[in-house]
Amino acid sequence: MKSFIKPRIVISKCIEFDFCRYNSQIIRSPIVSTLKPYVEFQPICPEVEIQLGVPRDPIRIIEQHTNKKLVQPTTGRDVTDAMQTFTQHFLASLQGIDGFLLKSQSPSCGTRDVKIYPAVLHSAPVRREAGFFGEQVLQRFPHLAIEDEMRLQNPVIRQHYLTKIFTFAAFRSVKDKASLQRLLQFHTENKYLLMGYSQKELRILGNILANQEKQPLPKMFTEYEHHLHLAFLKAPRYTSQINVLNHTFGYISKELSAAEKRFYADLLEKYKNGQIPLSVPVNLIRSWVIRFEQSYLLPQTFFEPYPNQLLDIEAIKASEVRDFWK
Ligand code: SF4
Repeated sequence: MKSFIKPRIVISKCIEFDFCRYNSQIIRSPIVSTLKPYVEFQPICPEVEIQLGVPRDPIRIIEQHTNKKLVQPTTGRDVTDAMQTFTQHFLASLQGIDGFLLKSQSPSCGTRDVKIYPAVLHSAPVRREAGFFGEQVLQRFPHLAIEDEMRLQNPVIRQHYLTKIFTFAAFRSVKDKASLQRLLQFHTENKYLLMGYSQKELRILGNILANQEKQPLPKMFTEYEHHLHLAFLKAPRYTSQINVLNHTFGYISKELSAAEKRFYADLLEKYKNGQIPLSVPVNLIRSWVIRFEQSYLLPQTFFEPYPNQLLDIEAIKASEVRDFWK
């Protein structure tokens, strides 16, 4: 079985780790529970860290004259400076982090959907944006995998997030070894995954490794990491994934019968029309790669960018849907 480096992820502590919400509750997330054995989570609760206590009266973001403040309406307490100081120190202390998984809608941890109010009391929110902690995370680590637990329920966002954190963790391990040979191997094994994400960045990464300017190894690693991050900025387009499927299919098609080729073409059409997930044609090609012992394709991360056991997350979602009919 393929082994994976555990991604290091900073997570809002109230998601599956502690009863630290304002009302002493915890957020249950089957996705995070499933991820626990495969990920090195670093839980943090910014509101507890600034001594707001549990339980506590809720806080909210107030904006007046373009100046944002974090206040506790019931007490009038202003915790803006305390939150900013904690956040700066905490984020500066992080090393070797591959991503963040933060609580949606929280005035501290939220990354995009936090209510912004025009006044401390008796006012309706005027818009939504990032919370105080979440905003600093986005500014300081724009290249890392950053999501909230609600968005992670979307299968496309989840697959992109999982692919990103496991690829970045694998690269981190290669970088720690500072070996050109390991970097070349990493690039070779990720070639088709990268092709699906960005042909442009794949070309640039190849040029960095060709190293015609004779750069020293640390500079090569820095540039490679920068462009690796750029390659994973957006989820891949389905047309790019079809391109990769056809490339890999080309390696084994001459070994297949006409009926097998028709079966593949039919699955590809279904994937194109959104009737089946990418994993179906991917696993079909993978089974042929194993059968024909295609040694170049066997280690390609495109076929398994994160542990296959995490595909069980789909089963979790299916069982949740079943619960709706009870
Ligand atoms: S959302 Fe963030 S600040 Fe609020 S309870 Fe969870 S971890 Fe703590």
